[in-house]
Amino acid sequence: MTDFQPETLAVRAGTARSQFGEHSEAMFLTSSFVFENAAQAAARFIGEEAGNIYSRFTNPTVTMFEERLAALEGAEFCVATASGMAAILSCVMGVLQAGDHIVASQSLFGSSVNLFNNVIKKFGVETTYVSATDVAQWQAAVRPNTKLFFLETPSNPLTEISDIRAIAAVAKACGALLAVDNCFCTPILQRPLELGADIVIHSATKYIDGQGRVLGGAVLGNKKLLEGVYGFLRTTGPTMSAFNAWVFLKGLETLKLRMDAHSANALALATWLEQQPNVARVFYPGLPSHPQHALAMRQQKTGGGIVSFEVKGGKAAAWRVIDNTRMLSITANLGDTRTTITHPATTTHARITPEARAAAGISDGLIRIAVGLEAVEDIQADLRGLGM
Ligand SMILES: *Cc1c(COP(=O)(O)O)cnc(C)c1O
Repeated sequence: MTDFQPETLAVRAGTARSQFGEHSEAMFLTSSFVFENAAQAAARFIGEEAGNIYSRFTNPTVTMFEERLAALEGAEFCVATASGMAAILSCVMGVLQAGDHIVASQSLFGSSVNLFNNVIKKFGVETTYVSATDVAQWQAAVRPNTKLFFLETPSNPLTEISDIRAIAAVAKACGALLAVDNCFCTPILQRPLELGADIVIHSATKYIDGQGRVLGGAVLGNKKLLEGVYGFLRTTGPTMSAFNAWVFLKGLETLKLRMDAHSANALALATWLEQQPNVARVFYPGLPSHPQHALAMRQQKTGGGIVSFEVKGGKAAAWRVIDNTRMLSITANLGDTRTTITHPATTTHARITPEARAAAGISDGLIRIAVGLEAVEDIQADLRGLGM
């Protein structure tokens, strides 16, 4: 199905029918699979015959999801996981060994930083953090044992854009792999493998579900490269459940429509925010005022669904805006049909020191909005605290 457009792949790729001819994909809630006879069981176990054995290894509903997402990312292979963090863990455990070194963007999701600093480090893999936007820093951080570059773009919450093509070239020149966490854009807006990345990571929990119901993740790339990732998963078990895979299959079917609508709402909201007297600054890659607007528009189809902005008056003013909302959900999750509003300095980034927060550009007046699918007029009206 590789010559089909993304809209078509999103609703058709990966579908496999059972003997009953169901039109909507079946949910295979079974832990194991039955064999015709002892010889077939033996052939399956030693890999002489393809087929399912046990749902920690493969499950038909999960396979359908993996094939559909792989088609959308333009990847040869996809491994679905229990969460986005399970995807990052499996990626690292699958491609690295003790003594290897990671160069990572300093603007990463908090749990990813935790994973690198407090889990992976115990197994003898060190991480150096560099600017998301300064390619020269990536080059300068390379050591003889550097095996993996890791970034996420746009970054959270400041929407900095990393130049995937340029950073992939640096990785390639030093023999390292580039993994891109594509959670914010999804393959509808950005396809990192086409820009030179080796691995794409997803938290499917966000836009791929899109309705805030279940956790899941995925690692994508070429099959040979992901052998170790699949092996880690099959042995250790942070696999995706058939139920969650079915929810994500349905999520992918509306992903293009939702990403277009999230993006249109986000652009309208960001444009409006820039005109508000009590807003000091707006961070949105789709705005011409974004320092990397041109790169963002080359690399992504739209600015995406996340808008951050700084209100004048610091924390008190930011909390006033949040506390005066009546509709927006005060929660740190994102990628939902419902708009969510977060104060990063006291929630997602509360545990880092004030100095580190300041260095990262996360001020006390910063608010992050993951723009949902409500009418943009209603979202604007709910930010009534801005006028106070
Ligand atoms: C949420 C998130 C993750 C982690 O995903 P979970 O499904 O919560 O484990 C990883 N990366 C980014 C960018 C995220 O937003």
